[in-house]
Amino acid sequence: MTEAVTSPSPFVGAPQPLTASDDEIRAALLDAELPPLLPALAYLTGDLGLLREHLKVDPLLGALPQCGLSDAQQAEIRDLAFAALAAYRDAGSLPAAPPSEHDLARIMEHCVGGGSMHEYVPLLDEELAFRGEDRRAPGWTAAEIAPGRAISAIIIGAGMSGLLAAHRLGQAGIPFTILEKNDDVGGTWLENTYPGCRVDNPNHNYSYSFAQRHDWPFHFSTADVLHGYFRACADEFGIRPHIRFGTEVLGAQWSEADARWRVQIRAADGTESEVAAEVLISAVGQLNRPLLPDIEGVGTFAGPAFHSARWDHSVDLAGKRVAVIGTGASAAQFVPEIAPVAGELHVFQRTPPWFAPTPEYRRPVGPGLRWCFANIPSYAEWNRFWIFWRMGDGALEGVRVDPEWSGGPGSVSAANDLVRMLLVAHLENEYAGRPDLLAAAIPDYPPAAKRMIRDDGAWPRALRRDNVQLRTEGLAAVTPTGLRTADGADHDYDVIIYGTGFAASHFLAPMRVTGRDGIDLHEHWAGEPRAYLGVTVPGFPNFFCLYGPNTNIVINGSIIYFSECGVRYILGCLRLLLGGDHRTLDVRADVHDAFNAEIDAANDLMAWGAASVNSWYKNASGRVTQNWPLTLLAYWQRTLAPDPADYALD
Ligand code: NAP
Repeated sequence: MTEAVTSPSPFVGAPQPLTASDDEIRAALLDAELPPLLPALAYLTGDLGLLREHLKVDPLLGALPQCGLSDAQQAEIRDLAFAALAAYRDAGSLPAAPPSEHDLARIMEHCVGGGSMHEYVPLLDEELAFRGEDRRAPGWTAAEIAPGRAISAIIIGAGMSGLLAAHRLGQAGIPFTILEKNDDVGGTWLENTYPGCRVDNPNHNYSYSFAQRHDWPFHFSTADVLHGYFRACADEFGIRPHIRFGTEVLGAQWSEADARWRVQIRAADGTESEVAAEVLISAVGQLNRPLLPDIEGVGTFAGPAFHSARWDHSVDLAGKRVAVIGTGASAAQFVPEIAPVAGELHVFQRTPPWFAPTPEYRRPVGPGLRWCFANIPSYAEWNRFWIFWRMGDGALEGVRVDPEWSGGPGSVSAANDLVRMLLVAHLENEYAGRPDLLAAAIPDYPPAAKRMIRDDGAWPRALRRDNVQLRTEGLAAVTPTGLRTADGADHDYDVIIYGTGFAASHFLAPMRVTGRDGIDLHEHWAGEPRAYLGVTVPGFPNFFCLYGPNTNIVINGSIIYFSECGVRYILGCLRLLLGGDHRTLDVRADVHDAFNAEIDAANDLMAWGAASVNSWYKNASGRVTQNWPLTLLAYWQRTLAPDPADYALD
C-alpha cells in the first residue's frame, strides 16, 4: 500500500502524476540542487540502491556550490535521477510505502555525507511532513481535555512568532487575541523597508514547516515577498479577525486573585484601556528597537538622518553626500543599492564582518529547480532538510571552541581555522587589486564570533566604486553638518543613515511586566535576561516568551524552527494546565538556574561566546544573552513536551 507524498501546506497543491517528457525532465535536472536529489528519489521510489557511496557529498565542502561534487559526479547523479524519474512516471507515478526508520536514517546519512542520523529521524519525519500531516499541531483541544473550563490567551505581536502561536492556539480551540502595534501583520518584514532588504536564510528553510511554498521566487526572498507570505498565512489560517491592530502594549501585571494577566494597551488614537487573559505570550521579536550609536551629538545633525529600520523614503539620495554608519547585515544589503544613486557615499566601519560566499543570494530560483520542487514529490522537503543540516547542526563543528587550540585569536579550533582560511581566500579574490580594501576587510576575530554576512559580490563591488569610500577612522561625534572622526576632522554630509542595529538584549522593552509579588521583570533580570528554554521565567506564571533569551542562532538554522519548537512547548504547558485543572504554571527557579548555567557554559565554548569581539549577541556585561549554543536537535528534544517536575502547578 502506498501513501501520497504530499504537504500540509495551503500553498502546495496535491502532487500530480508525472507527465513530463524525457527532454523536459533532463532539462529541469540541469537546474537541480543535487545533494538532496537522490535521497528524495530513494524516499519516493523505495530504491535505496540509488544511494551510491561514491556520490555522497563531503560534509566539509557544504558551503561550496553543489557541495563540491565533481562534474562527473554531478552528471552521474543527473543520469540516475533521470532514469528513476522516467521509471516512476512510466509506472503510473505511484510512490513507495514510507521507508522504515532504519532506511530513513540511511537516506539522511547519504544526504548529509555520513555520520549516524538515527537520533534525527523523528525530528526529520516531523519537520518535513512528507506525508501531508502537520505533526506539530497540538492534536488535542481544550474542549476535549478540560470541558467547561474558560481560558484565553493574549499574544503580543503579529510577526512570525505571534502568528504561529495564534495558529496553534486556534487548533487547540483556545480563544486568543493578538495585540499588534502596527497596522498589519509581518513584524520585521513589515517594518524594514530599506532598499535591498531580504532574508539571509534560504526561504525553503525560513518558512513554516506546515506552510511550505514550492514557488519561492528567490532563494533568499525580498522583504515584500516575505511580508506577502506572512500576510497570506494570517489569512489562510483565519488569524486576522483575532488581531487588534494599532494597539500598543504598555505593560502587564499578574493578578494572583483571579490568576490572570492584566494588560494595559494604548490605541492609535491614544486611548488607554485594559484587557485580561489567563495566559500571556510575548512574541515581540528581538530586532525591532533601533539602536543609535553611543556617540556625542546624535540628534544634532541638521539634515535628514534615519535608521535602516525606519527608512525615510521621502529623502532623495540622488547626487547627495551620504554617510552610512555600520557594516552589519542591514548595511550590507542597502549600501549596494544606494551606492549607484548617491553622489558620494562614505561607509563607516568599526569592525569588519566575515562574508560567506553565496553566489545565489540575489538570484531567482531557476525554472528547472522550481519544476523539480513542484513535480518530484518529497524533493522540496529533502532540499529543506539539506539546508537545515548544512546551516545547522552540520555546521556546528566549525564554530565550536577547542580548548587545546593554540592558533591565535583569529580562530577557535582547527576546523574554525580552515573556515577562516577559506573566507580569507574569498576576500582576497573579491578585493584583488585593492590592498587597501582587503586590509580593512579581514576580521581579526574568529568566523562566527559575529553574524556572518552573505556575499554575492555586491558589497565589494559597491566599495570599489569611485564615489564610495570605506572609512575606518573611529567616530567621535555627530555634528550639525556631519560627522567628526576620532582624529578630530569634520566631514560634511547631506544625509546620515544609521545601520547601527538594534537594542536586542533589552528583551520586552519598553513594556513593564510585573509578576508574582509585584516583581518587575526588568528589575528581576537586572540587565541579565534569562528564561527556561527561552520560554518561561520563575515568578511569572502562565507567561511565555517566543524568541526569548538564548533562542537566537548565529550561523545555525532558522528562527522559525525555534519558534515552532517554542510554540509546541507552550501548548504543552497549556495542556498541563488544563489537563490537571491547574490555575497556574510557574517554572521552578532551580530548574531555570541550572538550565541557564548549562547554556552559559556552552556558549563560552562557542566562537561567539569565547571571542572578545563585541556583538549584539552579548549584553553590557559581556554575557551571551541571545544565542542557543547546543544542537538544533537538542532544542527540539527539550521542547517536545514540558516535564511537569520542572514546574510548580497549583
Ligand atoms: P548589527 O549587525 O548590529 O550591525 C550594526 C553595525 O553598526 C555594526 O557594523 C556596528 O559595528 C556598527 N556600529 C554600531 N555603533 C557604532 C559606532 N558608534 N560607530 C561605528 N559603527 C557602529 O545590525 P544590523 O545590520 O541591523 O543587523 C542586526 C541583525 O538583524 C543581524 O545580525 C541579523 O540577525 C538581522 N538582520 C537580518 C537580515 C536578513 O536576514 N537579511 C538583514 C538585516 C538584519 P560593530 O560591529 O563594531 O559593533
